[in-house]
Amino acid sequence: MRKRILILPGDGIGPEIVAEAVKVLDCLRQDFGLNLEMDEALMGGSAYDAAGHPLPDATLALAREADAVLLGAVGGPKWEQLDISMRPEKGLLGLRSELGLFANLRPAILYPQLADASTLKAEVVFGLDIMIVRELTGGIYFGQPRGVRTLDDGQRLGLNTLTYKESEIERIARVAFDIAMQRERRVCSVDKANVLECTELWREVVSGIGNDYPQVELSHMYVDNAAMQLVRAPKQFDVIVTTNMFGDILSDCAAMLTGSIGMLPSASLDAGGKGMYEPIHGSAPDIAGQGKANPLATILSVAMLLRYSLDEPEMAERIEKAVDEVLDGGLRTPDIWSDGCREVGTVEIGDAVAAALSGQ
Ligand code: NAD
Repeated sequence: MRKRILILPGDGIGPEIVAEAVKVLDCLRQDFGLNLEMDEALMGGSAYDAAGHPLPDATLALAREADAVLLGAVGGPKWEQLDISMRPEKGLLGLRSELGLFANLRPAILYPQLADASTLKAEVVFGLDIMIVRELTGGIYFGQPRGVRTLDDGQRLGLNTLTYKESEIERIARVAFDIAMQRERRVCSVDKANVLECTELWREVVSGIGNDYPQVELSHMYVDNAAMQLVRAPKQFDVIVTTNMFGDILSDCAAMLTGSIGMLPSASLDAGGKGMYEPIHGSAPDIAGQGKANPLATILSVAMLLRYSLDEPEMAERIEKAVDEVLDGGLRTPDIWSDGCREVGTVEIGDAVAAALSGQ
C-alpha cells in the first residue's frame, strides 16, 4: 500500500540535511520499489516568515494526513526576539502535542569507526547501544498550575507541577517493554521515587506493566544514580524508560557518549505507531548554508521512520548498512573528522550513502 510522508525541512541547516535524506528515499523508491509519496511544508522560523505562524494550519493538516513526518530542525537567532508563542520551537511543541506524540525514542549508538570521537575512554563506550524511551507529552513540562506569581509579601514565586496519570505511565512503559522485546530484553526505569510521590506511582505502574512481559528483566534506578552510571558504565543499559524531564537530560548525556551530535536520530510516536522523525541536534545556525553539516543523523532518522511507522525493517537496514559502509570508507563531515579520514561536505556524504544503497 502506498504510504505518505510529510517532509518539514525547517530552518538553518534543516533544508541542507533533509535534501540528503530525500535523496536516500528517492533511491529506495527507484531501486528497491519503496511505495511512497512525499509532501513538503513549512514549519518553524521559515513558516513564521512566510505565513506568520511557526505551525501553519496547512502544515498541521498535512501532518495529520501523513503516515509519518520527517523534520530537519527549527530555530535560529533571527527569531529569538519574537514573542514566545511565535517562536519556531513552539511550532515543534505544537506539532508534538497535536499529533499526540507521547513516546520519544532516542537511540545512543556508538559507531565503532567513530570510537575516538567520544570524550570517554574507547573501552567504556565501544559497542554502546542504548535506547532511551522518554515520555514526551506529560510531566513537569506540561503540569498545571505553572507560572510566576507574586506573593502577599511581594516576593515572586516560580511554580511548575509534576503530574502523571496512571494511563500516561502505562502507555510509555508498554512502548519501552515492546522495544526491549526486540533487543536484549532489559528495561531500566528511571525515577526519583525516594523523594517524589509522582514517581513513586511511576515505579509502581511500570512494575505492574512489567508483569505482562515476563521475558523482560526490569530494574529501577534513581535518576541521580542513572546519570552517574551513564558516564561510569553505560553499556550496562539496554532500554531506559523515564519521565519527560529526566529523559530530556539523560538522553543528551547519552548522546554525547557517542561523541557526535550529527549522528543520532530520534523518533516521537503516537499510540498507533505514527511518528515524527528528526535528528537530535538543532538547526546549527553557525554552519548553516556552508555545506558542512552532517546529514547522517537525518538519514538515520529515515531508517527509524521506515522501521517504526512504515513497517519496512528491511529498507531501514539497507540505510543503516549503507551509512556503515560510507564510514568504513573513511568519508567524514568536519564534525566527525579524525586523522586519516577524508573530509567531505553535506552533499558529498549524502551522495556516498545513496551510491552505497544503489550498490546493494
Ligand atoms: P545545535 O544542535 O543546533 O548546535 C550545537 C553545535 O553542534 C553547533 O556547533 C553546531 O554547528 C553543531 N551541529 C549541530 N548539528 C550538526 C550537524 N548535523 N553537523 C555538524 N555540526 C552540527 O544547538 P544550538 O546551537 O543550541 O541551537 C541552535 C538552534 O537550534 C536554536 O534556535 C535552538 O532552539 C534550535 N534547536 C532546535 C531543535 C529541533 O529543531 N529539534 C533542537 C535543539 C535546538
